[in-house]
Amino acid sequence: MDFDLNPSQRTFRDDVRSFIKDRLPADIRQRLRAGHPPRKDDTVRWQRILHERGWAAPHWPRRYGGAELGQMERLILLDETYRAPAPLPQVFNIGMLGPVLLKYGTDAQRDWFLPRLARLDLWFCQGFSEPGSGSDLASLRTSARREGDHYVVNGQKIWTTTAHVADWVFALVRTDGQARKQEGISFLLIDLRTPGITVRPIVSIDGSHHLNEVFFDDVRVPVGNLVGEENRGWDCAKYLLGNERTGIANVGLCRERLNYARELADRIHEGRRRLSDDPALRAEFASLEAEIRALELTNYRFLLTDSERLRLPAFASVLKLKGTELQQGIAALLARLDGPAGLEKQAPDETPVHGPLTPRYFYSRAASIYGGTTEVQKDILAKAIVG
Ligand SMILES: Cc1cc2nc3c(=O)[nH]c(=O)nc-3n(C[C@H](O)[C@H](O)[C@H](O)COP(=O)(O)OP(=O)(O)OC[C@H]3O[C@@H](n4cnc5c(N)ncnc54)[C@H](O)[C@@H]3O)c2cc1C
Repeated sequence: MDFDLNPSQRTFRDDVRSFIKDRLPADIRQRLRAGHPPRKDDTVRWQRILHERGWAAPHWPRRYGGAELGQMERLILLDETYRAPAPLPQVFNIGMLGPVLLKYGTDAQRDWFLPRLARLDLWFCQGFSEPGSGSDLASLRTSARREGDHYVVNGQKIWTTTAHVADWVFALVRTDGQARKQEGISFLLIDLRTPGITVRPIVSIDGSHHLNEVFFDDVRVPVGNLVGEENRGWDCAKYLLGNERTGIANVGLCRERLNYARELADRIHEGRRRLSDDPALRAEFASLEAEIRALELTNYRFLLTDSERLRLPAFASVLKLKGTELQQGIAALLARLDGPAGLEKQAPDETPVHGPLTPRYFYSRAASIYGGTTEVQKDILAKAIVG
């Protein structure tokens, strides 16, 4: 990365690096380095430390707890976060809802929610997908009927990450069943403690509980919790899904995981020989390193360009596809290197006796689905190429 940084960016990079070195709690770093996902408490603790510097919501205005950083500084911050490794700021609060409120929210919504989102006093989750409405999101059926100064919400969401530990959900709901499907949708903020909400766990292939189904049964939501105009929620959704360009490629994550793979290969022996002395493995490392560097340069071109051609959604699809492929390749390599020790197992006193690398590999398969499936990205690319 140094190759591309100017002196002031390098100073910023050094500031971030020493801040993280001084302030990141050692137990969080160790858990993440070993391959565990951050726990809720890890994210809350770290986000509050970052918040002291305005770095929890680096692109937001200062008056709401941000630091008004530009694209390149945000990318440096993100890369250093992965490099540490430290938890990312809570994505639903910071990367999704915050920008939507800044653009479409009322002053009252901004003043009340944004400081709480930045400090993680409120944990939001995203209630978009429904059974049968994922890639074709606009076909969603959860309804909100206006009754006086409330909406009454009925329906079901699925794959709702962290709903079981969240305080609120931002949800897309249908407020007009007769309109064209994109035109009858609204964007609502719903307190998960409201009567009529049931959260049911989905345990994924890594054996963990991150995902949920959320059921709404005559749930009364104040009209003041509508963001933007009634029936114009699709504008908010498109803005939310399209505005987060900085982190699509996950270059920093790929690099940190590859470094960890090298560390493992140095540590593990086959007979007397270190795994890292195997020429085939060294060639594999070199090839992955070259691919990461190519992705990194492509990511810079995308972020820093003034060219309309490179701002096409199709270019974001290239970053998502290639970044996903690399992440999955490195996760598979880590699981292979660690062998049976990469299976998560705990002693009766709950001390881990084996690592989480194989479950993490399983979970990495989900990256081809969330944030727009691989097939849908390929459709976008095909249309851009063929026209
Ligand atoms: C780990 C994980 C976390 C998630 N977290 C959340 C969350 O917090 N909140 C939330 O709202 N949602 C979340 N999702 C849901 C995610 O957004 C959807 O799973 C995704 O949009 C795909 O929708 P679907 O599951 O309904 O599959 P479908 O859209 O039904 O797709 C099924 C298959 O058909 C293919 N396909 C669909 N349409 C096309 C097409 N036009 N051309 C070619 N192939 C096509 C897909 O690529 C896929 O292989 C999460 C999903 C995962 C896996």
